[in-house]
Amino acid sequence: MMVRSGIPELARKSLEAQLPAGRLMSDIPLAPFTTFRIGGPADYLFEPETEEELTSALRIARELEIPYFLLGSGANILIGDGGFRGLVIRNRFSAIDFLEDGKVRAGAGTMIFHDLIQATVSRGLGGLHHFVGIPSTVGGAIWQNLHFLSPPPERERTVFIEEVVESARIMTGEGDVREVPREYFRFGYDYSILHDQPDTVLSVTFQLTPTPEEELRVTIRENLQWRDDRHPDLWLYPSAGSIFRKIKDVGAGRLIDECGLKGHVLGNARFFPKHANIIVNLGGASARDVRDLIDLARNTVQQRLGYELTPEIGLIGEF
Ligand SMILES: Cc1cc2nc3c(=O)[nH]c(=O)nc-3n(C[C@H](O)[C@H](O)[C@H](O)COP(=O)(O)OP(=O)(O)OC[C@H]3O[C@@H](n4cnc5c(N)ncnc54)[C@H](O)[C@@H]3O)c2cc1C
Repeated sequence: MMVRSGIPELARKSLEAQLPAGRLMSDIPLAPFTTFRIGGPADYLFEPETEEELTSALRIARELEIPYFLLGSGANILIGDGGFRGLVIRNRFSAIDFLEDGKVRAGAGTMIFHDLIQATVSRGLGGLHHFVGIPSTVGGAIWQNLHFLSPPPERERTVFIEEVVESARIMTGEGDVREVPREYFRFGYDYSILHDQPDTVLSVTFQLTPTPEEELRVTIRENLQWRDDRHPDLWLYPSAGSIFRKIKDVGAGRLIDECGLKGHVLGNARFFPKHANIIVNLGGASARDVRDLIDLARNTVQQRLGYELTPEIGLIGEF
């Protein structure tokens, strides 16, 4: 395999020998694996489909000291134009098991929307349906404590995925696999302990509530409509959702708007005209275009209004 990384040859050979033959890809553009459709190539890409494949890929990368990044559905990250030097592990461990009393266990690579929501709603189990329309794997949702506004009419409270998490199976940074309760994650707004600790979520058990299917479908329709009215259509305008963290009682989008940057274009990236906290890829945008817009907003808002904007998305790889 031809790779242009700084990974020592011995480690490369060992990686190629230890992962399943024919499944390790090299020099793979990452843009198609992100909702932004932006990002240069990874030296190596491996897509585990079972828990065992996922844990062994992580163990091998750690043993060989090869830098790695665990990718979910790529909905909350911006990958640099230079790509990623090392191994990208794109988690495709998707599995859904229904247990007793409204509990469901899902592999960390399961897509919440559509797969998990579809499966649970059709069995009359409510809780996850609220997150309809948000691209996310189960693992990515735990990382960020996926959230959305409470149902109408109020739409005031924020509903977090932690509310339906019962427990999870994780692999720690030392390679131990164990079951942990919800409290382990110390969930907060856009936060879980995963931000500060090299644990990997392998699967999650959710506690759902038996609810008439028609009732769930009403909320689904309302939530999809709400999103449709305010957010860019992902297929027309690739994005990573909100760019900056929420600023309590102010709103990052409102600050960007107040500075006259709503709709502002740099290169092929733009602050979405209907929602200034979302940057969209107009087609062929580079990571540099997005970074420049982020920097422009941060500097302008700081200088004119005195607020500090903090990116909510992860910036991954070489820019
Ligand atoms: C159109 C759009 C709308 C959005 N709307 C919302 C919204 O309403 N609410 C909201 O909360 N978010 C929203 N988001 C953001 C995004 O959907 C969430 O943050 C989502 O949870 C990201 O999941 P992912 O699988 O794509 O993670 P990725 O973006 O692939 O990864 C994000 C982080 O999670 C880590 N990670 C992934 N899997 C695991 C694992 N198994 N174990 C440990 N760490 C892991 C990655 O290493 C990375 O650091 C939106 C995004 C888009 C594009």
